[in-house]
Amino acid sequence: MSTSYPSGPPCAQRGGHGHPGLIHRFLDRLPFEADDPIVTLMEGSTPLVHAQWLSERVGAQVYLKIEGANPTGSFKDRGMCCAVTQAVKEGSEAVICASTGNTAASAAAYAARAGLRGAVIVPDGKIATGKLAQALMHGARVIALRGNFDEALELVRELTDKHPIALVNSVNPYRIAGQKTAGFELVEELGQIDALCIPVGNAGNITAYWEGFQEAGVAPRLFGFQAAGAAPLVSGLRVEKPETVASAIRIGNPARWEEAMTAMTQSNGRISAVTDEEILDAYRLLAAMEGVFCEPASAASVAGLLKFGADGAETVACVLTGHGLKDPQTALEQTGSVLPCEPNLSAVEKAVLG
Ligand SMILES: *Cc1c(COP(=O)(O)O)cnc(C)c1O
Repeated sequence: MSTSYPSGPPCAQRGGHGHPGLIHRFLDRLPFEADDPIVTLMEGSTPLVHAQWLSERVGAQVYLKIEGANPTGSFKDRGMCCAVTQAVKEGSEAVICASTGNTAASAAAYAARAGLRGAVIVPDGKIATGKLAQALMHGARVIALRGNFDEALELVRELTDKHPIALVNSVNPYRIAGQKTAGFELVEELGQIDALCIPVGNAGNITAYWEGFQEAGVAPRLFGFQAAGAAPLVSGLRVEKPETVASAIRIGNPARWEEAMTAMTQSNGRISAVTDEEILDAYRLLAAMEGVFCEPASAASVAGLLKFGADGAETVACVLTGHGLKDPQTALEQTGSVLPCEPNLSAVEKAVLG
């Protein structure tokens, strides 16, 4: 059963920002045709928000690309609409991925949308609550591996070599194709862009942005940031037991290692590490000073900008990869507690004003 809408009414393909889903929006730059069985949830066309406080703090014009505004709350939807559309085109009946959480949530949603079976393999106990809830609600088979992400990815690669199941991790080229559209959007909105700050885990997204920028004819410096406990691209060595509060980038052996290093070198950028403490500081500051709630991994981009500065860049975009509600537990651990109050005016006055 296919529930995609290749030729539905135009309104069915329009997103809330007056744009269609990203395959339709960028059809001429993606490996699809208008009559393909396009699977969309109106992803892409995410808000780009000027960050007043951050701009003053780092002495540059800083913009936040709010990828948490995608349908399942992370940028993974950009790649997933393409990977799942291709899976439908090829006649796959099921999709699978290894995931630190957001890929699982996105794959599950798009599989449900397309009428495909979905299976996701996640590291046992290391996935944020919101992401787990999403994958389960969308009806995916969720498998908790007694191992880490890198082991999960290796196993799904072997599994998909043996069985006719589409692998929708970012090793899938359609994922990269979809995700590069974020680069197109930045160029359309900003024109000039000197630097991009981006968290790096499996390194698919930094690879995709670089492709998008190159295709758009621009070359901002790419500043990638890894969590200090999971920073193989900084040390040059695989990390056997990656550890960080930023679970989405808890990856010790990035699948797109080479491509990330190429993007960094060609753009005259760098990949640096930020500690969990720096990530959590940026996470709280973004919410408190800019009104933007992202998940911890996303805050690595801003943590890196705060730590290393804009390095002369005048216009900087920070990619906020996922929504803060994905990981309510970490948020609650970082905040004050709620105030209990008796139901009378003087108690409320004291609580509110006191
Ligand atoms: C997947 C993800 C990342 C890392 O992206 P890669 O392509 O694996 O480098 C960063 N932040 C969030 C929220 C993610 O879901």
